[in-house]
Amino acid sequence: MKQETQQLPAKRSSTTISVRQLTKNYYLGRTVVPALRGINLEVARDEFVALMGPSGSGKSTLMNILGCLDKPTSGSYLLDGEPVSQMSTNQLADVRNHKIGFVFQGFNLLPWMTAQENVELPLLYSDIPAQDRRRQALAALSLLGLGSRAEHRPMELSGGQQQRVAIARALVTRPTLLLADEPTGNVDSQTGIQIMTILQKLNTRGLTIILVTHDPNIASYCQRQVKFLDGRIVDAHTIVPLQAKELLVQRSSSQANGTEEESVETRERRDGTLSEQQERRAITAVQYSTFAAHIARYHHRCGCRDHDDFDQRGECCQH
Ligand code: ADP
Ligand code: MG
Repeated sequence: MKQETQQLPAKRSSTTISVRQLTKNYYLGRTVVPALRGINLEVARDEFVALMGPSGSGKSTLMNILGCLDKPTSGSYLLDGEPVSQMSTNQLADVRNHKIGFVFQGFNLLPWMTAQENVELPLLYSDIPAQDRRRQALAALSLLGLGSRAEHRPMELSGGQQQRVAIARALVTRPTLLLADEPTGNVDSQTGIQIMTILQKLNTRGLTIILVTHDPNIASYCQRQVKFLDGRIVDAHTIVPLQAKELLVQRSSSQANGTEEESVETRERRDGTLSEQQERRAITAVQYSTFAAHIARYHHRCGCRDHDDFDQRGECCQH
């Protein structure tokens, strides 16, 4: 297992992003919603950038475009020097599948699948044999410290563990760019720091990370803070990031002294309410965009155009 976990961190050089005068309008009937109004952004290899700003300021819209899930209305987007804004839907899917991993606020795990099966999902459309898929999924889970939880279903895991499974799923295709939209939004502060510890570790191993957060504490673990307002970048500055691992060590020693407040998760577990809450989160998550992205990948694989052709497990009924 040790050998497998060592295979995962960046084997290719990581990625660069160059966005120029990017705009995105949504159309609701006759109403135009200008979600992005001319974004300029450069992200270097191995950077760890936080996108901040109030709700509705355009952060997720930009993340969807950076992640090749959506196209801009105008402007250019170069990913590793390639003009993404001119690519076809199939080319976008290829870039997405080879270069980019996604983590969302809702963990988006499929509740009927084990952790390992969830992590395998992005590999299903490839030609990787089942045994190798399983091995890679286990390696990704081990990297996130969840090797022993591979057979657990999401509702048998805590919120922090579920998010780690989601990160393992994002990493199993060995992306060079990780896009994380509010990855700590559904977990307590201690678990948030744990997640940032993991992301900082991955970043030092060569993964470029762009993370959306409302929380200035979370942003303080990133190297650069980019602030959005009304579809524009209004501030961007580089900082010396805090080291999440150090804070984690400090907190666990103060917890050992009995001075730290009980975490939400500990409290939930003690009260016996955790599994019900987890179940609700997991089920909500299924309706969300990672599942949609996987469905799109199944489409891409068989060329099928009709979403109704897919059964509940995302498998095409016709092929
Ligand atoms: P943030 O992630 O910063 O909260 P979003 O990128 O989600 O902001 O949204 C930016 C703006 O675009 C908001 O006004 C939002 O209502 C609008 N918007 C986002 N997605 C859509 C959509 N699919 N259709 C119409 N308007 C949208
Ligand atoms: Mg958002």
